[in-house]
Amino acid sequence: MNFDLEKYIRPDLLGMKPYSSARDEFEGDASIYLDANENPFDNGVNRYPDPMQKKLKGRIASIKGVGVDQIFLGNGSDECIDLLFRLFCRPNIDRAATIVPSYGMYAVSSRINQVELTEILLNDDFSMDVERILRESADCKLLFLCSPNNPTGHTFPKSQLIRIVEEFRGIVVVDEAYIDFSEESSMVLELMKFKNLAISQTFSKAYGMAGIRLGLLFGSEDLISWINKIKPPYNVNQLTQDFAFQKLQEIERVKTEIETIKSERNWLRKELLGLQQINEVYPSDSNFILVKVEDANKLYNYLINKGLVVRNRSNQPLCLNTLRLTVGTSSENRELIEKISEFSV
Ligand SMILES: *Cc1c(COP(=O)(O)O)cnc(C)c1O
Repeated sequence: MNFDLEKYIRPDLLGMKPYSSARDEFEGDASIYLDANENPFDNGVNRYPDPMQKKLKGRIASIKGVGVDQIFLGNGSDECIDLLFRLFCRPNIDRAATIVPSYGMYAVSSRINQVELTEILLNDDFSMDVERILRESADCKLLFLCSPNNPTGHTFPKSQLIRIVEEFRGIVVVDEAYIDFSEESSMVLELMKFKNLAISQTFSKAYGMAGIRLGLLFGSEDLISWINKIKPPYNVNQLTQDFAFQKLQEIERVKTEIETIKSERNWLRKELLGLQQINEVYPSDSNFILVKVEDANKLYNYLINKGLVVRNRSNQPLCLNTLRLTVGTSSENRELIEKISEFSV
């Protein structure tokens, strides 16, 4: 597909010279480093981290089946989302779009960047109306699609996502924060074909590292090099890089945890379907389940009183009286079911 990325980059950034750090200007081994005004006494973190996180990206590339230069790492996905707005959208001029209900950060980040966001309603059953999405996003530069979607929990058919990537005249960002829990394969496989596609993932959910703040963005080498030009120089700190590198050596353990969470999710769903307190249990390819109840505020407050906190999604479009339940450990899930079953409607 013919795609001229530079046509979509903010024109005022095109000639920009990125900040060049000491670690950008000299790479390699020296016996003495006197170039970055660091404290010379070794305590494990007295040196600036690798601004391009090469060692960690090498490992991620082999796990995810993408090239090292197709990976951007951010301080959480939130940073990736923010940088996408900044790279493509001129404040108060360019527009972006997303589906609703979906992840709240797209709206927050667009607001902070003064980018008007078109919010396109899903169908009542939370499926996508592809025609409507293409029509309503036609004047937008950036389109966020979350799949599996949060808070609804299901994956959109890949054929629909691909059709949107093919027809949308701008950058499509598919947020795959929950893809490891889904039976559907990642859109990463489509990166070779589509230069207007970017995919965000995170180590916060399936990989069990929410605390270290590490988000991923995959895209063409061109797109990733543009994001690198505008990122804060040392956006992923040393402790995060080291911890993630270590943890990714135990990738089998992560896979086992994902399988356990998936089987707990399926157990939880079956139990929820049997509870008279629950009116509807939406299908989930994620590590959470959205349910509809008679009075979400009442059940939410009841659970809080029992020491159990879930997410009330009632104020989201199409989500009146819904609660989002994260899959916990086996005993936590049993306790959740027990508490709900004791609630009198
Ligand atoms: C949790 C979540 C993220 C993760 O954000 P981080 O900043 O990486 O922790 C991204 N997208 C969606 C849809 C999420 O639900």
